[in-house]
Amino acid sequence: MANVLQEQQLTLFDTVYTAYKEFVNPPLARFMKMAGAPVEIRARGCRVWDHTGKSYLDFCGGYGVFTLGHMHPRVVAAVRDQLDKMALSTRVFFNEQMALLAKSLADLAPGDLAISFFSNSGTEAVEAALKLARLSTKRVHIVSTHNAYHGKTMGSLTATGRDVFKDSFQPLVPEFEHVTFGDLDALDRALPGAAAFIVEPIQCEGGVVIPPAGYLKGVRELCDKHGALFIADEVQTGLGRTGYMWGVDADGVVPDIMTIAKGLSGGVVPIGATISKRDVWMSAFGKSPLMHTSTFGGNPLACAAGLAALEVLVDEKLVDRSREMGAYLIKRADELRAKHPDVIAEVRGRGCVVGVELTSEGYGGVIIPECLKLGMTAAYTLNQQRVIRLEPPLVVTKDEIDEAVDILGQGVTKAKDKLGKL
Ligand code: PMP
Repeated sequence: MANVLQEQQLTLFDTVYTAYKEFVNPPLARFMKMAGAPVEIRARGCRVWDHTGKSYLDFCGGYGVFTLGHMHPRVVAAVRDQLDKMALSTRVFFNEQMALLAKSLADLAPGDLAISFFSNSGTEAVEAALKLARLSTKRVHIVSTHNAYHGKTMGSLTATGRDVFKDSFQPLVPEFEHVTFGDLDALDRALPGAAAFIVEPIQCEGGVVIPPAGYLKGVRELCDKHGALFIADEVQTGLGRTGYMWGVDADGVVPDIMTIAKGLSGGVVPIGATISKRDVWMSAFGKSPLMHTSTFGGNPLACAAGLAALEVLVDEKLVDRSREMGAYLIKRADELRAKHPDVIAEVRGRGCVVGVELTSEGYGGVIIPECLKLGMTAAYTLNQQRVIRLEPPLVVTKDEIDEAVDILGQGVTKAKDKLGKL
């Protein structure tokens, strides 16, 4: 019996791997296999099970998608219920779920952010923000930051601040400029005549880079001074991830436009949103309501997931929990750094987005696969391979954090044994 099971597992892995290698992404398939990636089968809360039945603590969390954990029962129930009625919109009739979600977002968003445009991903939310800013201000120049990550479609890629993703696609969208993240003087010099400044409250993909306190306040002042719009890219930092409802809340500022995705899905159905102040939206689209549209954006199924996700976030007080569990994770990971300062240079984070910076990029190549072997997912940051990012669901427990840090510690020891001093 055991042999039959093993054979079935092997066959499933081979089938999936071969299809990945042939039809999805050959080099990525080989890289994932080398890193020991199994096939994901099911997930609940902070755990994922693979094709052999082995379970993993999910501290990669779909790069910040699973704020509520996997398959939160209330989100799943809301989506099932909606699925029994209708999944996608006619787009000719009013869509109740979209209306309710837009209202909920306006209630929860900072200040007077009011009108939501819905799409299906983070990068689409950013594209909408960039177009909205240009149309609203009748200006074209967009300022963003070095080391930023805003997505990989043409507009958001242009705003992204990492050349390796951009160089092959030049020329990208004209009239974009990058300044150093955290540098208000540089921003002051770049903003005259600009339509907008787009910035992440924390550069998550950039290696969990936290700006100096008061930076976003300064950004707000400079945008006002120069008549430019302030776009906060909250795709990853929004909805409790940083221990605040929104990343900008750490500085108590209200942007003109905010992009949201990841957590809004409730971890169940993808969705993106671009929320803006009423006057900003009206000055762009007030006379041309179909200027920017999306067939699938704001579909009833995704909006049902989003609505349930917002309810769970509030009812289960997950923003407070993010702050509390994040502080515990940072403390435990920092103890690990104190034990292994030769491998871990720094631990930093806010709420449940935590970066473990290694003394050398090379260690990550052993630590991440070893963590996987021992039953935990962790991820590189896309712009900074020296930083391992931990983004557990906000529902994570202290026991799960202890288990994760223990596994990470074993990964560090293994890397030291294998690679010595780098
Ligand atoms: N903006 C930020 C801040 C992000 O972190 C990401 C994704 N990591 C994106 C935009 C792009 O989102 P997506 O991958 O859903 O297009």
